[in-house]
Amino acid sequence: MSSTMEEDQLLDYDEEQTEVQAADAAAAVDGATNGDSTKLKGNYASIHSSGFRDLMLRPELLRAIMDCGFEHPSEVQHECIPQAILGMDIICQAKSGMGKTAVFVLATLQQLQPEDGTVSVLVMCHTRELAFQISKEYERFSKYLSTVKVAVFFGGMPIKKDEETLKTNCPHIVVGTPGRLLALARGGQLKLKGLKHFVLDECDKMIGDVDMRRDVQEIFKMTPQEKQVLMFSATLPKELRLIAKKFMQEPMEVYVDDEAKLTLHGLQQFYVKLKESEKTKKLLELLEILEFNQVVIFLRSVNRCQALDKLLTEQNFPSIAIHRQLGQEERLARYQKFKDFQARILVATNLFGRGMDIERVNIVFNYDMPEDTDTYLHRVARAGRFGTKGLAVTFVSDEDDAKTLNSVQDRFDVTIPELPTQIDVTSYIEK
Ligand code: ADP
Repeated sequence: MSSTMEEDQLLDYDEEQTEVQAADAAAAVDGATNGDSTKLKGNYASIHSSGFRDLMLRPELLRAIMDCGFEHPSEVQHECIPQAILGMDIICQAKSGMGKTAVFVLATLQQLQPEDGTVSVLVMCHTRELAFQISKEYERFSKYLSTVKVAVFFGGMPIKKDEETLKTNCPHIVVGTPGRLLALARGGQLKLKGLKHFVLDECDKMIGDVDMRRDVQEIFKMTPQEKQVLMFSATLPKELRLIAKKFMQEPMEVYVDDEAKLTLHGLQQFYVKLKESEKTKKLLELLEILEFNQVVIFLRSVNRCQALDKLLTEQNFPSIAIHRQLGQEERLARYQKFKDFQARILVATNLFGRGMDIERVNIVFNYDMPEDTDTYLHRVARAGRFGTKGLAVTFVSDEDDAKTLNSVQDRFDVTIPELPTQIDVTSYIEK
């Protein structure tokens, strides 16, 4: 969507996104469906046996990393962290779920020297939920850095509270969405003169969307010239790279360009051909047969999303829905509920399609076909996070759907077969 400014609500950028992403956006999906083990290159553990210790991180961070159960840095972490902690600018594109968040969270925490009353780190992303999730990552990794304060600001919540926080308990790290951050910066409550690190997550969205880019630029201009700029995305079309680089000084560029080589390791992808009217019946049938930890079902509109959620609940499926018509607090509460495993099925629109990380999701349904290949990638990446096993099932109900599916197969050089009547459970669920 292209966003309209509501007074307090500000921007919410990604729901029912219709803009066509440039066809050459570089990112990748590849199922392990062809059983070709040589394709499993992206798997982090097999490549880097060296641990986090070699990255020379502060002991407080290493302890927190150990608490999280991370043993080895992922490929992208291995590539980026050593440079990032030296203060270099980095633009990094790597497939979804490979731990990009930890790159900037660890790199900025490593360098942070908390000064009271000064915001040193600013992280911007395109949705409120993602902002919330990133702030949680900061909390997790700063567990043993007791003086570090993190705050998250986004639209939909009263701005007064944010202003109060900035005044009375100024955070060292601020995470948020551009609309709200800009309002706070313009109002003078968010002071950026002392900023040292400027981070954009899902940066293709942040600078690809014209409205959002304007906000980002305005905020950028309020920061000191001397600072570290870090940008991350799973997809980054060539022309956006050029724009991104204008924000940076001789950045190190980490691209994983060869789409076919990238794999969402462990993810199995299938399609089911059926009529629109058969979708619900088929879905219920599959939910009965398949074994799942948690499931995300994507639909194209809020109405459809609500209707399916209602129907599932009536059928006694433990389902909740997330979409933009919910108030912000309700949205967060539901997100947390799903994350805490209090609901097993999430019915969602594209609002939930990007960046969200729920470890236990092992099945994603495209009840409605995503509008483009990028959206497909972002949606199915909800399953099989960080190399865990997963299953993506896409319903194909007309010509257009079939075309999109073909584009996905072409672009990512993957064969997505028809869902067989029987699938080996161990292929999509960790035992
Ligand atoms: P991305 O931003 O690249 O999409 P995330 O940063 O959301 O990926 O990471 C995906 C998941 O992998 C998260 O649950 C995160 O906690 C986990 N993770 C990240 N780095 C590691 C690691 N080195 N070892 C194990 N798990 C990791």
